[in-house]
Amino acid sequence: MDFYILTLFPEMVMNGLSASITGRAMENGAISAEAIDIRDYSHDKHHHVDDGPYGGGAGLVMQPGPVVEAYEALCERLGKKPRLIYMTPQGRVFDQELAKELAKEPELVFLCGHYEGVDERALELICTDQISIGDYVLTGGELPAMVAIDCISRLVPGVLHNEDSAEEESFQDNLLEYPQYTRPEVFRDMQVPPILLSGHHQKIHQWRRQQSIIRTLERRPDLLETAQLTKKEREFLEELLKERSGNAAADTSKMYNEEADAPELHGQGADRSKLHGESADKREPNSAETYASGPDGAGICASGPSTVDPAISAALPDTDGSVSA
Ligand code: SAM
Repeated sequence: MDFYILTLFPEMVMNGLSASITGRAMENGAISAEAIDIRDYSHDKHHHVDDGPYGGGAGLVMQPGPVVEAYEALCERLGKKPRLIYMTPQGRVFDQELAKELAKEPELVFLCGHYEGVDERALELICTDQISIGDYVLTGGELPAMVAIDCISRLVPGVLHNEDSAEEESFQDNLLEYPQYTRPEVFRDMQVPPILLSGHHQKIHQWRRQQSIIRTLERRPDLLETAQLTKKEREFLEELLKERSGNAAADTSKMYNEEADAPELHGQGADRSKLHGESADKREPNSAETYASGPDGAGICASGPSTVDPAISAALPDTDGSVSA
């Protein structure tokens, strides 16, 4: 799979992608990445590629000419017009499903914005997709493009040594991954769950699936609506829900904050609050940016309302944003 990145900071992208697994995949030819410097297509003698916005306002906007010409030159070289993805906080929120879809393409072009973004006419002319990596605003599209490329690359055959490791991860079947353990067997008096030492593969598989269900219920109950569960697993989930609605429906804080609620998660530690993200009102208060407009931070690229199965939502407390509605 070939990635092309249109950017003002080619070294940043190539340095990032050349490390670790993506770097090795580039060396063995499973993927290739080429950063194209948009500045090379500037007609300005100082190689400027940006200017102030028409209508006034803060910041600079990337001019359409160099961006469009950089893409057109690439298309001419390749003899085709690959999908061009503009990384933007206004786009569809990137997730594993989208990564799987994009991994089927033979090549992808990423356009990284900077400053206030890219002149709208360039986007109208060449952009096929707009993708966000989350509801927050970064200074440029390079890190978002690297995030997307890293994630897509893992799904390209030959990138991971063990093909299975991409199959058994979080979001497979719309469940989060079970807890993982390695040596030593006992660490600071904490024992690895004995089932994992039993050598009984079927039981280990069942335990892991159950842990995935518990973990998903705890951390991302919204995923359960479309999780792929066997009949037995659905019964297990229903039992859990019954137990929980009986126990703690009235005390929402218990479900997310109290250590007493944690033992079956083995070793999550005291810092569980970190798992649930920060509240929306901690967003960067930059009045010119996408997310500054609404009092509730409801930007224009929300991933869509999550409608949780009524049976699940009835039993779950509507609390800290884990169920994004
Ligand atoms: N003024 C723009 C707005 O409010 O939508 C934000 C511009 S941002 C400061 C500069 C560039 O960073 C964008 O053009 C985009 O390429 C990239 N960027 C910032 N946040 C991003 C996100 N969450 N996902 C993808 N790209 C992002």
